[in-house]
Amino acid sequence: MTERTPGGYTGKILRVNLSDKSISIEKPDDKFYRRYFGGTALIGYYLLKELKPGIDPLGPDNKIIFSAGVITGIPCAGSGRSGVGSKSPLTNGWGDSQAGGFWPAELKRAGWDAIIIEGKAANPVYLWVNDDKVEIRDASHLWGKATKEVERQIQDELGDKSVRVAQIGPAGEKVVRFACILNDITHAYGRNGHGAVMGSKMLRAIAVRGRQAVPLANPEKVREVAKWLADNYKILSLTKGLSDNGTADGVPELNADGILPTRNFQEGQFEGYMDISGQTMTETILVGRGNCYACPINCKREVKVGPPYNVDPIYGGPEYETIAALGSFCGVNDLKAIAKGNQICSAYGLDTIATGNAIAFAMECFERGILTKEDTGGIELKFGNAEAMMTMVEMIARREGLGDILAEGTKRAAEKIGHGAAEYAMQIKGQEIPMHEPRGKVGLGIGYATSPTGADHVHSLHDNEYPAGSLGMEGLKELGILELLSPLDLSPAKVRMSQYHVNWEHFRNCATICVSIPFSHSQILQLVNGATGWNTSVFELMKVGERALALARVFNAREGYTAKDDIIPDRFYKAFNSGPLKDKKISREAMHQALQTYYKMAGWDPERAVPTAEKLQELDLGWVVAELDKPARK
Ligand code: SF4
Repeated sequence: MTERTPGGYTGKILRVNLSDKSISIEKPDDKFYRRYFGGTALIGYYLLKELKPGIDPLGPDNKIIFSAGVITGIPCAGSGRSGVGSKSPLTNGWGDSQAGGFWPAELKRAGWDAIIIEGKAANPVYLWVNDDKVEIRDASHLWGKATKEVERQIQDELGDKSVRVAQIGPAGEKVVRFACILNDITHAYGRNGHGAVMGSKMLRAIAVRGRQAVPLANPEKVREVAKWLADNYKILSLTKGLSDNGTADGVPELNADGILPTRNFQEGQFEGYMDISGQTMTETILVGRGNCYACPINCKREVKVGPPYNVDPIYGGPEYETIAALGSFCGVNDLKAIAKGNQICSAYGLDTIATGNAIAFAMECFERGILTKEDTGGIELKFGNAEAMMTMVEMIARREGLGDILAEGTKRAAEKIGHGAAEYAMQIKGQEIPMHEPRGKVGLGIGYATSPTGADHVHSLHDNEYPAGSLGMEGLKELGILELLSPLDLSPAKVRMSQYHVNWEHFRNCATICVSIPFSHSQILQLVNGATGWNTSVFELMKVGERALALARVFNAREGYTAKDDIIPDRFYKAFNSGPLKDKKISREAMHQALQTYYKMAGWDPERAVPTAEKLQELDLGWVVAELDKPARK
């Protein structure tokens, strides 16, 4: 560790220009790391400084940034994660996404905190990062191939099976607007269409091999927190459920509560919920459990299905978001078909949330007569048709027929289809809504509306996860949130809870720590201090999260986003006809009031929904104030 680099970091950022093939290194100082940390905030710093408003997200002027955080690669559960960011081709605004696996830790072990990719290659290429040696290599022979094949071929030609690969698939090459990037084939930077950005740059993959330990200022402090998780993950109900049945462990409970997204958010309960649950997966098609770097929980699934589906465990198995998106959301209760759909998404590199959402949108349009068999190429595109679901996944990935229209995302597809289709496009700011129902946890509605990425489930509040005495509730007390609030509460107290939560989760995405690890605020503080040697505080870390969000909101304001874009679909203002939430809907007036309160509490201008100049100064972002005056381009 050099004098100017805190522990936990490598002190180096790699910059690669694919147009002129130049490669350079930047070495930020301690103050930079303390302000911009890594992950979302570091990405925000560079995107806001270096991208001009109005650029084409699929053109050479866009940049894509992979950023680890201080936690990435340290010997503790939750440290397998990193972030990626660019201008999103789905929203034409701020885009960032996180993924776990082993690639992020390998990047740190190779000596890099982040990689900034700019320009556009003339032919398909991949990047080879071998510790401090960096090479741009030809990828013409890999173009068009499935992810499994490409990973194996790269490892073979580099002569090292330990090489870790982050890559797009054929869907990214065809710039499907919700194409994802996959680490180690199974861990997806799913949201916001970064796979399309990489595809537009003709960059198929980034292969990494690292042989250096991540330096720690005080390893004992880190070890103490790691030991707590190792000693308790089999006892804590959340982590035990994840370990036993994966992220789909909660399906029966969501269904019982009436918040399992079903048939394009028309219902909150699915009659086939047990068939697609994590429990059924464990009992039927599960053949193995996988993990991320240094994590004992093993929440990842590996499934195997014989003919006619032929699902290969190398593609892992469906997680909750995929189970719901390709399952209940499409009315499909066939777990083997969902596993097949998941495999197609991983082989082609598609975000499973957006894919399922786009198919369910098309199914509703078909059932309402907006789309016909003529439009679908003869497919009976009805809810519950598992065969049709699998076929549509492939058609989207290949941009064939109706799949070519859906590959543009539901917002653009609805505009093209017309005839009132927009009413059934479940998207916010152009991004498809994830598999969480805000009518049963209304604080999530605030998060959906205000997230700079469009609908987000990672940093938004899930109000039902804080029952009395829970670890979550005890954790919130560290922030001064002392009262238990109903999931249906939309009072100023809920707005405050949502805001603190969102800021803290943004910090977690800067430190890049897995969202499923139930560390308290003070345990995460101990990890940061143990890694860096700083004597920071939960207050300072919250400010890092708030700063990251402010950078993203200013980025969107420059692109023309205002408070008018902080909306949720009309469907959520209508009540369900059945189930535990029958007759419950979000009040439009209460949501409007909650958003106004949110802006004022956050120090945001209520019309532009962006931090005021004074708020930016308070966040130590004086240089960003001038960005507020740049003309909006939307
Ligand atoms: S809980 Fe699951 S996603 Fe999180 S680090 Fe562990 S294995 Fe990875």
